[in-house]
Amino acid sequence: RAEGEYARQSLQAPASMEAFWMPFTANRQFKARPRLLASAQGMYYRDVEGRQILDGAAGLWCCNAGHARERIVGAIQQQAATLDFAPTFQMGSPLPFVLAERLAEIAPPGLQHVFFTNSGSEAVDSAMKIALAYHRARGEGQRTKFIGREKAYHGVGFGGMSIGGLPNNRKWFGPLLAGVDHLRHTLDLQRNAFTPGLPKHGVELAEDLERLIALHDASTIAAVFVEPISGSAGVVLPPEGYLQRLREICDRHGILLVFDEVITGFGRVGKAFAAQRFGVTPDLMTTAKGLTNGSVPMGAVFVADAVHETFMHGPPGAIEFFHGYTYSGHPLACAAALATLDTYAEEQLFERAIELAGHWERAIQSLKGAPNVIDLRNFGLIGAIELAPREGAPGARGYEVFERAFHEGDLLVRVTGDTIALSPPLIIEPAQIERIVNVLGETIRKVE
Ligand code: PLP
Repeated sequence: RAEGEYARQSLQAPASMEAFWMPFTANRQFKARPRLLASAQGMYYRDVEGRQILDGAAGLWCCNAGHARERIVGAIQQQAATLDFAPTFQMGSPLPFVLAERLAEIAPPGLQHVFFTNSGSEAVDSAMKIALAYHRARGEGQRTKFIGREKAYHGVGFGGMSIGGLPNNRKWFGPLLAGVDHLRHTLDLQRNAFTPGLPKHGVELAEDLERLIALHDASTIAAVFVEPISGSAGVVLPPEGYLQRLREICDRHGILLVFDEVITGFGRVGKAFAAQRFGVTPDLMTTAKGLTNGSVPMGAVFVADAVHETFMHGPPGAIEFFHGYTYSGHPLACAAALATLDTYAEEQLFERAIELAGHWERAIQSLKGAPNVIDLRNFGLIGAIELAPREGAPGARGYEVFERAFHEGDLLVRVTGDTIALSPPLIIEPAQIERIVNVLGETIRKVE
């Protein structure tokens, strides 16, 4: 490992923590008792005190191949020295073209065009703009409305926030985008608690889309956005048949269906994308995170051929889509993504997620009966442990489990509200699955 001047600074606690305003963090609480990760390798982080921390969250649903993989590290280093930056506005460089072709190979058939962004949030806002411009190009410019869903997380741009359905992410920021409505969410503990895999009940919730279409009229609606599996809301799974039903309704009304696969993409559910695992092909698909194994920021929107084709008319000299980012198709991100795809393929990590899923399911579901556990959910290599909220203090019990698992159990998990979310790197070994569940079981028993 190169221990240059900057890497050395990564290994020790910073002299001051005042200036960095941390995102999505209780800053004062964190800075009073920090959790500082210094380095990472394979399934483990090491914190600044030298403790080895098992990664039960793939960082933040990102590092599906585990950390500091040699091929990816080498690709980034070499690319930085070969071509550090090249514009993609009216200019090009080879790697974004090479990467887009590679992505098309693993994408669902018919989704063979790729628009690059730098994050999931930007992928979502880009997809919203593609949807609007697509309808306008076909002469249906009155289709300007979007349908999102309660409990959804689509990032933090004004578009993604507006179609998202998490109250804390919305309420501070004014009226948001006009012309957005929301489907009901599909979390139903009364009927589905402790169901391994997909919920059996709730396919009828897809009919909610018909209700919103009746209210707004299909002719005003551009697109429906859903996460095949909501991650940030605490892992909300689609009831059996639900996504198929959404597809049918969208088709009937000429509405685009968009899957936000920022979390489910790149093997998390045992195929390249949840679209393939569930056998439902959307018109647009937003991705990020696992695209580069989290190593360099990058997002991508996969676009249906028919949608893309709609833009490719008019004078050849006309810019077809007035949108893009300075760093769209950044050479370092492209190199990291290509090395990531090779790692996934060579180690057959998507298949591994399927192979391990039975073991994973049994491990997660073994926590049934632990104190305050009110639901256990799993699919692919995703898991969730939902705890009953403390009276008058929602989120407090979940946060305590998260914090104690880190400090006392040397385990990194993710917490949202009172739900512990799990998404380990796909290279995880069965013994490490046991360890995650044992640490969490012990911690949950310790927390009142
Ligand atoms: N969409 C989904 C489904 C996500 O889970 C996330 C992030 O967790 C995003 C969008 C936003 O991605 P980013 O944080 O890269 O902007």
